[in-house]
Amino acid sequence: MAANMFVVRQTKGTVLCCKCGILMAPNPANMCVTCLRSEVDITEGLRKHATIMHCPECDSYLQPPRTWLKAQLESKELLTYCVKRLETDLIKVRLVNAEFIWTEPHSKRIKVKLKVQKEVLNGAILEQSYVVEYVLQDHMCESCTRFQANPDQWVASVQLRQRVSHRRTFFYLEQLILKHDAAVHAIKIKQMDQGIDFFFANKSHASKFVEFLDKVAPTKRRESKQLVSHDPKNNSYNYKYTFSVEISPICREDLIVCLLELLLVWGISDRL
Ligand SMILES: [Zn+2]
Ligand SMILES: [Zn+2]
Repeated sequence: MAANMFVVRQTKGTVLCCKCGILMAPNPANMCVTCLRSEVDITEGLRKHATIMHCPECDSYLQPPRTWLKAQLESKELLTYCVKRLETDLIKVRLVNAEFIWTEPHSKRIKVKLKVQKEVLNGAILEQSYVVEYVLQDHMCESCTRFQANPDQWVASVQLRQRVSHRRTFFYLEQLILKHDAAVHAIKIKQMDQGIDFFFANKSHASKFVEFLDKVAPTKRRESKQLVSHDPKNNSYNYKYTFSVEISPICREDLIVCLLELLLVWGISDRL
């Protein structure tokens, strides 16, 4: 009590807005938020439209100059990618939040709502939201182009399947594959009706990938090979190998989802 005796009690002062006269807490501009907003648009000059290159074959996005990022719609990776495309804009303001606005998956449009802050008029901080629309321009990535030119170059393929009505486990598995770059050696990744096909230029890369899948999910697999050519001169045979990997339907879906989620969260699979 005694220590507080000489402390002047602080009261929150109020002032009148210099424009509309409303009672308000003082700020460096002494103008209420509504009036500030009508005076300045802090998103002025920030791009509201952008074009991004999208490979329709493997569902990846061009990270200039030459890298392709494989990401799913509405994923964290894609959001980071979208925000990064506005890098030069976002040095002029402070980015507070970014989120997707749902767009129809076939619309070839992605919308991101950004919330930014900027110091205006004598140091008052103004916050504003705006929407950036990204137009996806189809452009085949280098590896898909190469594959298209010579579709028979693959030696081994992995056909990953799950025959259930919903694709939750599959989604998590895909995230795990991305996170661990497990399919990094795939020369082609193709979305199929009930799963994904991965194509590899040699068998060992495919086997390694199958091993990875085995570790992170209960799977049943089948291996087959098909003779594609035989050279009688040196008695050599060329095969194409196919691994059919099916995510086990016997297991309780939710159990797998929980397990995979845990692996993701704790990064346990790093040590597998
Ligand atoms: Zn005002
Ligand atoms: Zn591609």
